[in-house]
Amino acid sequence: MIIAVDGPTASGKGTIAKALAAHFGLPHLDTGLLYRAVGRQVALDGGNPDVPAAAEAACAFPDSLLNDPALRSEESGGLASRVSIHPGVRRALYERQRAFATRPGGAVLDGRDIGTVIAPEAAAKLFVTASVEARAQRRFLEMRERGEDVTLEEIAADLRERDERDRTRATAPLIAAEDAVLLDTSAMNREEAVSAAIRIVNELTGQTPCP
Ligand code: C5P
Repeated sequence: MIIAVDGPTASGKGTIAKALAAHFGLPHLDTGLLYRAVGRQVALDGGNPDVPAAAEAACAFPDSLLNDPALRSEESGGLASRVSIHPGVRRALYERQRAFATRPGGAVLDGRDIGTVIAPEAAAKLFVTASVEARAQRRFLEMRERGEDVTLEEIAADLRERDERDRTRATAPLIAAEDAVLLDTSAMNREEAVSAAIRIVNELTGQTPCP
């Protein structure tokens, strides 16, 4: 069973995807990490993330880079969003994601184009959203916990900019698949969002709901 979880930055999709993977006993791939690794590799190479050739060359990043904690930073997120607009980068990362999605036994993948491009045949597709205000607030608390010095306004502005770039790019823009179920987590805590997601997957796949 393939479960596709798409949605914008800080919508809660990563948390939901991880929880679904644990609940259904499936492997999980955070596809944003691949784009973050490409963005970080361009920076390490001293290249320009807006230049297609530089971004495409960075797709050959070493696997060890995926464990770099710097990939979680806002800076890497911004770089990822810039390299991800290049069709050559998306092509280069396609096979790796597709191979993961089609593992025997199934998988959970989260990203922006899982239900539309990577695994259109997924048994369950969730499109996780939340208001910019709710997402900025969550990101703010997370970053403050990590000791990072940012304001709520800066985070909200960054989220809006990344949403705009993700939604308007020509190749694989952030858009809900026609058969995706929308899950708005604005007013939900972590537990509520995870329970709602499990319920949706059970309904979509005809699995017996857990008591
Ligand atoms: O999900 P995350 O915030 O880690 O993703 C970072 C960036 O990578 C996103 O803003 C988006 O531009 C890009 N991305 C993408 N397609 C995916 C996953 C991430 O374009 N499947």
